[in-house]
Amino acid sequence: MEKYYHSVRLLGERCIGCVSCARHCPTEAIRIRGGKARITESRCIDCGECIRYCPNHAKTAVTDSLDDLKIYRYNIALAAPSLYAQFDKNIPVAAILAGLQRLGFNKVAEVARGAEIATAALREHLRTPGIKRPVISSACPAAVRLMLVKFPELIEHLSPIDAPVEIAARIARREAAKTLGIRPESIGVWFITPCPAKMTAVLEPIGVMQSELTGTISMISIYGELLKEIPRDTVPADSRLASAEGVGWALAGGEATGLGDAKVLVAHGIRNVSNIFEQVALGKLNDVDFIECLSCAGGCIGGPLTAINRFVSENSLKQRLKAMRDRGEQTPAEPVADAEIALALHEGRTIEPRPALKLDNDIRVAMQKIEQIDETLKRLPGLDCGSCGSPTCRALAEDIVQGTASETDCVFRLREMVRDLAEEMVNLSTMLPPSLNREAVGKDPVGQIRSERLLPDDKEKDKRG
Ligand code: SF4
Ligand code: SF4
Repeated sequence: MEKYYHSVRLLGERCIGCVSCARHCPTEAIRIRGGKARITESRCIDCGECIRYCPNHAKTAVTDSLDDLKIYRYNIALAAPSLYAQFDKNIPVAAILAGLQRLGFNKVAEVARGAEIATAALREHLRTPGIKRPVISSACPAAVRLMLVKFPELIEHLSPIDAPVEIAARIARREAAKTLGIRPESIGVWFITPCPAKMTAVLEPIGVMQSELTGTISMISIYGELLKEIPRDTVPADSRLASAEGVGWALAGGEATGLGDAKVLVAHGIRNVSNIFEQVALGKLNDVDFIECLSCAGGCIGGPLTAINRFVSENSLKQRLKAMRDRGEQTPAEPVADAEIALALHEGRTIEPRPALKLDNDIRVAMQKIEQIDETLKRLPGLDCGSCGSPTCRALAEDIVQGTASETDCVFRLREMVRDLAEEMVNLSTMLPPSLNREAVGKDPVGQIRSERLLPDDKEKDKRG
């Protein structure tokens, strides 16, 4: 069986089996068994929705910690634009980067520069004649995994441009190795992440042979310390800071902003992304050039590992972006070079589908199973109450047909079965053995035969008294 790495994990001792996570999982990866949630690894896309919705904090994301910096000779932090959104708009980006460096990094680089390069590469890609449209963004690893698991037929739509964090990591590692004259492998490159899917993307990258990142550190885990380390008086000078075009990627619609006249569609929130993928699969969006899709509502600022409420951080980032535009910082200070664009491509590398929702490898068997699921579903109440441990009645019907659940797992079906059984027992309790059942005489052929054969004997017995 194929082994998958996942950042999202269950803390079993905290789980009370309340089904909340299973109801919100976009790939129906969770079932409640034995009173505890269980994640089907092949279906999980590390979107973190279950972390968001568990009222008991029984779901968590495994990321690295600042202690892991000790392993490497030189450490680089990659700051996402969503990190800037965690702070007041009046705290300069340069001060946030300086605070990050004080946490123990030798250098800090902006992912927003990777986003500027990705934007330029995307603009160029969209001008390529004959490409499969709509092109679907590959920036959000959870959205890409959703495609691989649920809509593998859309892989040919996937953009060949790497995620900004990979581009930024590639550049930072190469530059540092060259400047310091050390081996690239001795450098730790850490992404300060707003979501668990990025951690999974490091250990199980899609489209790239190996991630340029060493690991990820969750934004929420360092937020308090970082807040203390940010210099308030003197703002350190920084020769090159990213533009609003790159920083804007943290918000839904930010990636699409730099694409000029292209017809774009923006979907954010994993269920909306799933609905849009469905539309593409049905061929309904062929007139669209590009689809930006982000698992988290609002964009990366809504990631489950961020520290600040998404509406607050969205407002703060929008104000920061406005100030940047007012200062004339909408587009990159340094134009993106062709060599940088070349670094952004993962073209030619195979992306394998993971059709974990397939009912069977044999299409005929799969069709039969669909019929069985429909038949089973007719017997279920359709309430989607979740008390069976499956998120919906349809999911339970599928589990029954796949042999991992039973119809008696549904309390309503169980009640019906008990009632039928009780009725049967009542009926049985009124029945008499043939020798005593006079009512049956003459009513059925057996009784008829019996009356003809037995009654005279009975009369004889009576006479004999
Ligand atoms: S939401 Fe899921 S993980 Fe959290 S307590 Fe309920 S069943 Fe357990
Ligand atoms: S991370 Fe997302 S896909 Fe994985 S179990 Fe949680 S909700 Fe489901």
